[in-house]
Amino acid sequence: MENVSMEQLISLCKRRGFIFQGSEIYGGLAGTWDYGPLGSELKRNIQNAWWKMFVTDREDMYGVDAAILMNQNVWKASGHVAGFTDPLVEDLVTKKRYRADHVLEEKNIDPKGMDLEAMSKAIVDNNIKSPDGNAFGEVRTFNMMFQTNIGAIQDETSVSYLRPETAQGMFVNFKNVVDSMHPKLPFGLGQIGKAFRNEIAPRDFVFRSREFEQMEIEYFVKEEDWKGRFSDWIGAMYGWMDFVGIPRSKVHELEVAPEDLAHYSKRTMDFEFDFPFGKKELYGLAYRTNFDLNNHAEASKAGLYVVDDENGGTKVVPHCIEPTFGLDRTILAVLASAYHEEGEGDDKRVVLKLKPTIAPYKVCVSPLLKNKPDLVDKARVVYSGLKKVFGNVTWDDNGNIGKRYRRQDEIGTPYCITVDFDTLENDTVTVRDRDTATQDRVAIADLQPFLAEKFS
Ligand code: ATP
Repeated sequence: MENVSMEQLISLCKRRGFIFQGSEIYGGLAGTWDYGPLGSELKRNIQNAWWKMFVTDREDMYGVDAAILMNQNVWKASGHVAGFTDPLVEDLVTKKRYRADHVLEEKNIDPKGMDLEAMSKAIVDNNIKSPDGNAFGEVRTFNMMFQTNIGAIQDETSVSYLRPETAQGMFVNFKNVVDSMHPKLPFGLGQIGKAFRNEIAPRDFVFRSREFEQMEIEYFVKEEDWKGRFSDWIGAMYGWMDFVGIPRSKVHELEVAPEDLAHYSKRTMDFEFDFPFGKKELYGLAYRTNFDLNNHAEASKAGLYVVDDENGGTKVVPHCIEPTFGLDRTILAVLASAYHEEGEGDDKRVVLKLKPTIAPYKVCVSPLLKNKPDLVDKARVVYSGLKKVFGNVTWDDNGNIGKRYRRQDEIGTPYCITVDFDTLENDTVTVRDRDTATQDRVAIADLQPFLAEKFS
């Protein structure tokens, strides 16, 4: 990995159709990004690889695809309605924002138990001014959850939220999975999907946006087994990073200090990555105890437990280990790791050294010259044959062959196949390797197994 700048990455992503600013022709919408033709392929390949590694390749995992909109009681029980909310107060002149509870505490007024109205009243009654000496407005809530209303009537009962994490969709389906699949501990649920957070300051491209995607696992274990399983997941998460091409040398473990742990967590480890803008959280791994299942069981009255046959059929509320992977942060880390520049001056080329399994295009097929019908016809046959097998095969007959190779290098296409005059004689083509720029001559009849081996 080279020291790629965010400008280089953002420019490549826009130029070559990976990622665009959301609603760009209308001036954009802060904190939103749209994946273009190549970006959506890369994203889908990463999702599929994750699903394969963590769901279908394992015997102890089950997939879930829960609704984004959920009963508001889910978010009450999970603590998000209360916990994702900050009381905000605004300086009426400078418009600077402050936490209302902190403003009160600084004046030795205990805000505990106060609702918004009481806080506003306390600010007025005690004549509290902002640090700039101006009056404050009314105290109001700031909740990172996007709130909406379901159906035609807008009242308290119709409130719902765009989920701020995918995790709760798994906890609320725990009983459904236990009743329908009868899993034995340990087992896990995996989900990939959108999450929404009204971040106060979205920044750093797709790193911190308001709409993003998560790939999450809730892994249920017996309480006494949590330490060993937690270690197993550390290993599995590194295995994933190796697979998608995130170098271990750029990943740093951050053990969250006991005093900084979320109230439900007994251990949390963040995996930080050296992004171009600094070392920041890429993934997280948390031991959430049985907090979530207990809370949902209490609030919903559903029996969220498994029956332990080995222990006389006792009911066990399993403990949970949560490995969480931000999909957009994965894409950013993968692109930053893959970005290389080679050559000097006019020969300088960008090479995106993506792992072949996740590259948007697996292969590019070209006729050496586009004005020779024999070459074009032959190349078309090779192209459609490979497309049937490998799906994402692209066609390029623009400009000279050197320029085509550069264009494909820049978007990470691992192999370029050229149909030339020798092909017409002996049914062989050249296969050029993106990373070494070397070429093999391969019989058309052998192309499929030759490439299949490279993508295995
Ligand atoms: P941060 O501290 O960076 O805000 P977080 O600790 O709030 O992140 P989690 O709640 O643990 O994040 O979310 C799980 C994963 O979702 C993160 O590890 C990250 O990869 C991803 N994620 C969280 N917030 C965002 C966001 N605003 N934009 C993109 N990805 C995000």
